[in-house]
Amino acid sequence: MSSVGDLIDAYCLRCKLTLSHVVMYESGGTIDKVKCRTCGAEHKYRGPKPEIKSGATRSKKVKTGSASSASTGRQKPTLKEWTQKHEDLKDGANILPYSIRDPFNAGDVIRHPTFGVGFVERVISDTRMDVLFHDALRRMAMNMKTP
Ligand SMILES: [Zn+2]
Repeated sequence: MSSVGDLIDAYCLRCKLTLSHVVMYESGGTIDKVKCRTCGAEHKYRGPKPEIKSGATRSKKVKTGSASSASTGRQKPTLKEWTQKHEDLKDGANILPYSIRDPFNAGDVIRHPTFGVGFVERVISDTRMDVLFHDALRRMAMNMKTP
């Protein structure tokens, strides 16, 4: 089982090759995003090979908007917790811009370009931390000396 900060083989769309990637973060125990060590591109983890199917045998699931209504129907527990923490934030609180190269500590508030404000719940190791974002608790890489 790979985890944040580990190297993993993944298909890079830019390099068009299966190459070594750094796991940037995972969500719910599955790898979410990786960074290509060759070209530096960051993208969703798709597995070691691209999913290219001719579509002949693929059965399309047609849904009439049920997916979107399900996600908005009820609040996720992370959202409630995040909202509370966000309300408790004081004006002028120090929100640190997230960088995979910087070290963070439990209790830090960070701002991620994609996920927005996050609260560092705990530090797992020198290079891993759990961060509470409004939509999910994510395991993020940090303090990485990657190119
Ligand atoms: Zn690449």
